[in-house]
This record gives sequence, C-alpha cells and structure tokens, in this order.
Amino acid sequence: MDKKELWQKVLAQIQNKISSANFATWFKKTEIISKENKSITIAVPNSFAKEWLKNKYNNKIEEILENLEVDIKNINYTIKKTSNNETKNDRNETTEEELVGQLDFQEFKKDKDTNLNSKYTFNNFVVGPFNELSHAAASAVSKNPGSVYNPLFIYGGVGLGKTHLLQAIGNEVRKKFPRKKIKYISSEKFTSEVVSSIRNQKMEDLKSKYRTIDVLILDDVQFLAGKEKTQEEFFHIFNTLYEKNKQIIISSDRSPKSISALTERLRSRFEGGMIADISYPDYETRVAILKTKSKEKNLSFSEETLDYIAINIKKNIRELEGALNKLSVYKNLNNKELNIEKTKSILQNFVQSSRKKITPQKVIDVVIDFYDVNKNNVLSSCRRKEIVKPRQIAMYLLKKELELSYPSIGKKLGGKDHTTAIYAYKKISKKIEEDDNLEGEISLLKQKLASA
Ligand code: ADP
Ligand code: MG
Repeated sequence: MDKKELWQKVLAQIQNKISSANFATWFKKTEIISKENKSITIAVPNSFAKEWLKNKYNNKIEEILENLEVDIKNINYTIKKTSNNETKNDRNETTEEELVGQLDFQEFKKDKDTNLNSKYTFNNFVVGPFNELSHAAASAVSKNPGSVYNPLFIYGGVGLGKTHLLQAIGNEVRKKFPRKKIKYISSEKFTSEVVSSIRNQKMEDLKSKYRTIDVLILDDVQFLAGKEKTQEEFFHIFNTLYEKNKQIIISSDRSPKSISALTERLRSRFEGGMIADISYPDYETRVAILKTKSKEKNLSFSEETLDYIAINIKKNIRELEGALNKLSVYKNLNNKELNIEKTKSILQNFVQSSRKKITPQKVIDVVIDFYDVNKNNVLSSCRRKEIVKPRQIAMYLLKKELELSYPSIGKKLGGKDHTTAIYAYKKISKKIEEDDNLEGEISLLKQKLASA
C-alpha cells in the first residue's frame, strides 16, 4: 500500500468515528509525506493542528493502522512547507481568535440553493422543558410540511436556539422530501432583496421566485418592524404560499403581539398558526448541552468544569458553547488539564457579561431613557399622564425584576407611599393583559435592562 492509499484508508475510518466538523477542521489538509521503516510522517497545515492531532487523535490513528494491519511503530507530525505566495506567518501562527473560530464549526458550508447549514440538525438539538413545545412543533412540521401548523412561529431571546431549530426543520425536510424546494432566509437579507428588487424594478421576478417554494423559513422577523414596504411584499408572498398549503416557518425575538410596527394583517396572519416559545434552559439542560457540545467537538472536561460553566452562564446557549471553545483552546495550546482556578480566570469575561447586575437605578434610568422623560419629574409628585406612566412602569419593573418591597419601591421613586407602589404594580399588570402595545413596550424594556 503506498502512502497516499494508506492515508485515504485511515481518513475514511476516522471520518466514521468523529463529527464531520472535527474531521473537516483537523484532517482536511493533511497527508502522509513519508513512509519508511515502520515510521510515517503526517504533514499538517499549522502548529496548532500538529498539537491537536498529536494529543487528540494519535491513539485513534494508531488503532486504525493496527486494524488495517500495517506495521507502523512511529507516527511523526510535521508542518507542511509554506508555498511561495503565503508568508510563513500566515500558515504557522494561528491566533487564539482564529482557533476559537475553527472550533466553531466554520467548516460547514451553507448550501447555496436553500441557505441551509448542515450543522443544525434535530439530532444535535438538546430538548428540555424550556424548548419542548417549540421542538415538538418543529418536529411535527418537518414530518408533514404544509399540513400541521401553518405558519409555525417560534420566538425566544438571543442565542437560545431559534436559528438552530428553524434550520433543523429545513435539513430534515430536505432529507425526507428531497424534491421539496426549501429556502431559509434572514429577515435582513429578505429586506435587502426586496429593496433592491424595487430599485431595479424586478419585483415581479422576486415574487415569482418565491412562489415556487415549498418550505419558506424566515428568521428574525422582528427585523421587519417598521419596514412597511417589505412587510407588504412578504404579506403577498405569505398569502400565495399559504393558499397553496406551503409551509411557512418564522422566528422572532418576541411574540407577534409584541412586535411593534407590524402591520395588523401580517400580525394576524402570524397568529393564525402555531406560536411556540423558547425560554431559558434549566440547569440540567445546560449541563446536557455542554456534554453534547463537548462530545461533538471531541473535547473532554471534568464534571466540575462543566458544572462551573452551567452555574454561571444561564441565559444564552451560544455563550455556553463559547466558553467551551475558549477552554479547549487553552487546554490544547498548553497541553495540560484545567484546574478550577484556571477555568475561572479564563472564563472571567463570559461570566461577568452574563451576570450583569440589574440595579434599581438601572431600571429607573432605562425607563426614563425609553420614554424620554425628565428624571426629576418622574421622581416628583407630578400627575401629568406622560410622567405617571413611566413612573408606574418603573415601579412595576422594580417589583417584577428585582422583587423589591413596596415601601422601598416608593422610596426609590422620590419618597412615594407604599400604597402608590402597590397600585402601580397592579395597574400595570392588568393593563399588560389588555394592551398589546404596552406588553411590547415592557418586553423591550426588559431586553434593554438585560443588555444595559
Ligand atoms: P438564536 O437563533 O435563538 O439566537 P441559535 O440557534 O443561533 O440561537 O443558537 C446559538 C447556539 O446555541 C448555536 O450554536 C446552537 O447550535 C446552540 N444551541 C441552541 N439551542 C440548542 C439546543 N437546544 N441544543 C444544542 N445546541 C443548541
Ligand atoms: Mg438566530
């Protein structure tokens, strides 16, 4: 067996043993450059890959060679010589940022027709109480597009799996119904398509392109807020597809009710199907997600480390993943196990940012800024309507978000009586039920607080 053939065989087996992301990241540009006297030398593109193969995959490679019954006692790794048009630096020195990027499954390519990314599947989507409903609906839709829930509207905060779930539906449909035409598009991209079609007087072309789709997936629809022309075009496309029983799937960071500046007819279209939310993952699910991701990336961490991450990062699954990537890069570059102190120091930034503390002062400032009112007026006993509303909302949020006592809420708002705070809390709670706009405002305020 010559060296090329041998490596092909090894790669074929490795491919079966590890995730395709890892395979693409670590084995894509490798080859055996020499094979003599029971030794082989494997050439790799950079020093990082060299370390990684040596530490992580050497055993696997040895095992495979044994199975293939080739007698190799020594495996060496070497960095491929740089070609003329690349400087040495380009190839051999990879920065930490780049490495984190590599780990982040960048090797997956988007499919050009559908815009689907094959890394998002139901298989690697962890289900817990927080996303159960959305997952069940998504799974049902993928088995029977166009006939169960139409449209399917999934909403939830940033980094909680909306895009993953939407794309998983697309990938599943593609597998089950290869002839169906699927298109995934972000609302931003859709808007720019509409804008340029209008500019080039190609609106009809755009419409007829969309008319042929069987499964249309529109991500982050809140982005269409206030863009009336785009909404109108989407409304027409929606209706055409809907009437033909074509599946429409939409995501948003908030419920249809809370998307301000959404035309009424579009809102009622969205509300006509299935609406499912994704909330925050509980502790057990966070640990399960960390374990799944570690396995996917062929990384192993102690229970203590995973526990530390799960306890400290609660509201964003993307950050859970980011923490893992960061730790794995450290571990690999330094080639040693992490102790908990080191883990804490590496993750310092992550933990701080997800632990941003909401203070009473912040609540008041965010409300004042949002309604663009004068702080002194809000803290005074002014009874003007445009002042009373923000004051009551601030009181409501102090209760709801920080669970302050009514007397201390009164005090924070310029020394009001506790009965005023109780009244405000009850009033706003009741009004939210009746007034969609107010509900939307409160949900925006909460988001601002979380990111302030
Ligand atoms: P969103 O679109 O809601 O902002 P994404 O779908 O982009 O969030 O998810 C962020 C990251 O977290 C992605 O890498 C995704 O694969 C991962 N993720 C989210 N939810 C899950 C889940 N339930 N199981 C596994 N991975 C998840
Ligand atoms: Mg998304």
